Amino acid sequence: MKKIILTGDRPTGNLHIGHFVGSIANRLKLQEKGGYEKFYIMIADTQALTDNADNVDKVRNNVVQVALDYLAAGIDPSKVNIFIQSQVPELAEMTMYFMNLVTMARLTRNPTVKEETKLRGFNLSVPVGFVCYPISQAADILGFGTTLVPVGEDQLPMIEQTREIAKSFNNTYGNIFDLPKPILPDNKACLRLVGTDGSAKMSKSAGNCIYLKDEPEEIKKKIMNAYTDPNHIKISDPGKVEGNVVFAYLDAFSTEESFKKYLPEYKNLDELKAHYQKGGLGDVKIKLFLNNILQELLEPIRNRRKEYEKNIDGICEMLFKNAEMAREVASETLRKMKEAMGLDYTKFLTKK
Ligand code: ATP
Ligand code: MG
Repeated sequence: MKKIILTGDRPTGNLHIGHFVGSIANRLKLQEKGGYEKFYIMIADTQALTDNADNVDKVRNNVVQVALDYLAAGIDPSKVNIFIQSQVPELAEMTMYFMNLVTMARLTRNPTVKEETKLRGFNLSVPVGFVCYPISQAADILGFGTTLVPVGEDQLPMIEQTREIAKSFNNTYGNIFDLPKPILPDNKACLRLVGTDGSAKMSKSAGNCIYLKDEPEEIKKKIMNAYTDPNHIKISDPGKVEGNVVFAYLDAFSTEESFKKYLPEYKNLDELKAHYQKGGLGDVKIKLFLNNILQELLEPIRNRRKEYEKNIDGICEMLFKNAEMAREVASETLRKMKEAMGLDYTKFLTKK
């Protein structure tokens, strides 16, 4: 099967370390490995508007921020097509046709949408666009003939729904879509990185993030204030590792190298955890260790970002050009869809 990769992010804020381990790290690996036919990264502004209808400024301004974060993290614009979703309007038309293949019952059963609806306090006032965003996401994926989608765990229900929509289209109208597969991080700790407040997911909308662009002092402050074990009061107290944000981040980011470099008195994370659980290891020590690791990871990203920030015009030009190329591909998919559906009114023309 052809290797066509597509992934994306909502421009609702800057990218954070959850994005890095959940999806960006895999994108970088795929980019380096090569061997793909096309690789798209979509900045999902249309999707971001489904829960930000009254805040277009925020979404628009964050488009450039997210593009800067990609480039800073090492996404190479000569190998990957980064484009803005709303600049490929064919995707919206595809969404209309896909909507007819999905039931209300199926839509409201999507666990990620359920969780996000609750988180945003929507209840019955949930915008229709928001409930439908998995359908528009299916169009984003299928519109480019995508076969691989590198994402975090919360996106699995979306890929599942995309596959169902593709099957339903293929069965109803004719076989034109390959079924895409998700690519998840290998390290379990990276599937869904917790927020600094200990809540289930680090998320731009929840304000519990360490951002890729954070300055060194901000990173340190966030780590020093991160949720650990509230019952671990004295250093001698035994501490809990489960639900402890610092250990969740160490699971995701520390390596044997980090121990050699910053904490040589321990061989690895298992030893450090065992000591914490036994008692006698303070939060400050583990937090400073984590701080060293994250500072090392984020420094080059922050520096690259500062370089790219000098050329916003160049980034915008790249995004616009990329959207034109993406449109060509999406128009061809739309043409094939309409052909399969029999939506061809030239048939009625008497003069051929
Ligand atoms: P929002 O709160 O606006 O939904 P978000 O922080 O959830 O923003 P998205 O743009 O929705 O970010 O997600 C982009 C990608 O990053 C998805 O593939 C998602 O699975 C992944 N991702 C987001 N947050 C995390 C996290 N905390 N851990 C691992 N992966 C994540
Ligand atoms: Mg999200």
